[in-house]
Amino acid sequence: MARKSEYASEYEHILKSDKNCLKAAQEFCEGYKKFMDNSKTERECVNTIIKIAEENGYKEFSNNVKSLKAGTKLYVNNRGKSVVLITIGKESLEKGVNFVISHIDSPRLDLKPNPIYESDEISYFKTHYYGGIKKYQWPTIPLSMHGRIFREDGSFVDISLGEKDDEPKFVITDLLPHLSAEQFNRNLREGIKGEELNIVIGSIPIIDLDEEVKNAVKENTLKILYDTYKIKEKDFARAEIEFVPANKAVDIGFDRSMIAAYGQDDKVCSYTALIAEIENVNPHKTSVTVFSDKEEVMSEGNTGMVSEYLFNIMEDLADITGIKTRECYKNSICLSSDVNSAYDPTFADVFEKRNSSFINHGVVLTKYTGHSGKVGSNDASAETMAKVIKLMDDRNVVWQIGELGKVDIGGGGTVAKYVSRRNIDTIDVGVAVLSMHSPYELTSKLDIYHTYLAYKAFLLND
Ligand code: MN
Ligand code: MN
Repeated sequence: MARKSEYASEYEHILKSDKNCLKAAQEFCEGYKKFMDNSKTERECVNTIIKIAEENGYKEFSNNVKSLKAGTKLYVNNRGKSVVLITIGKESLEKGVNFVISHIDSPRLDLKPNPIYESDEISYFKTHYYGGIKKYQWPTIPLSMHGRIFREDGSFVDISLGEKDDEPKFVITDLLPHLSAEQFNRNLREGIKGEELNIVIGSIPIIDLDEEVKNAVKENTLKILYDTYKIKEKDFARAEIEFVPANKAVDIGFDRSMIAAYGQDDKVCSYTALIAEIENVNPHKTSVTVFSDKEEVMSEGNTGMVSEYLFNIMEDLADITGIKTRECYKNSICLSSDVNSAYDPTFADVFEKRNSSFINHGVVLTKYTGHSGKVGSNDASAETMAKVIKLMDDRNVVWQIGELGKVDIGGGGTVAKYVSRRNIDTIDVGVAVLSMHSPYELTSKLDIYHTYLAYKAFLLND
């Protein structure tokens, strides 16, 4: 046996240091899979989170709240697309709060505002993809339809179709290999082009024996939409409809050690943060757990982290207690709770192995993201890294470090920079994911469990 170094250390499989956590991890992930199946989109995610929060004593934060009693649990629903959960701590807000900020939007196909057309007796929806996808991954997989659409009279209907076994699903076609000589010569990026992501939605025409019906298949599809939802073609201009993979979260591997599901970036961090927040009872510091929207499109819009919504909520809290938010922020820490790319042995070339995160090696502390020399990165300070690592070590949370990939091979970002610009110490902390941004992302149950333990350890921070 080799002598164990007193100085060197390696990042190892979770089960080498936390030998007995497998069963707890398996059980924890049963709840996670249910959450995923009920929360395919940011709107559905907000509904699920508020339901769970209310069941656990959270009340909607309103202007009527005149004092903040320690232990009080509050939530703020921002337009049904992002939500903030708060647990008031024993200490003054001036001493800082613990932020945990994940995002609940995921890459997908949005409908264009005038989406329905017929071509050669097939009816289709036109789409515009949202976030960073590899377009060739989206044809020939079952898709489901989710979202909200307003009618002319101001009423609206929420649609979720294609998730249940007996519901119809939708699909994008691809060319058969026999006729793909030209397509095979395209770049992978253009293997399927954006304007080829057309969703098949019908093929039966309206038959009228007396007169010819123009675009009879489209007409029949519209009739079904009207009969089912009382919506007409123009109503798609006042809608947000998203198509996502119609798959369910499932166990992967003979040992059932992993989970495949759509949207784990970043709902794997959202779920672990949600449970840690709910279980955070009577903390010293106030916890502010955010489930944000629009991260996949640079956090823009009034439900993304570029918006003032979170900081307005903080102003409201500060007004009640008579403190200044800037005092609060400089003493606060934020875990930007987002996933990182797990080392993939099949595509080893793009990773620098010593600084990559590995599945089953624990929660990932990502010091910096960005591209071309850390451009656009928050880059957590040595002090912040030291504080968070100590919190993990004190509570036996298995952690690892993780760079996105080799220097100059690509890049990425998170909400971290939009928080740290407020003078808040911020670090990215989340789960390592294989096949990130694909319709079927892969994670490890042990990592999910230790990420939950990491957020718990952080929220207990006093
Ligand atoms: Mn993410
Ligand atoms: Mn992402």
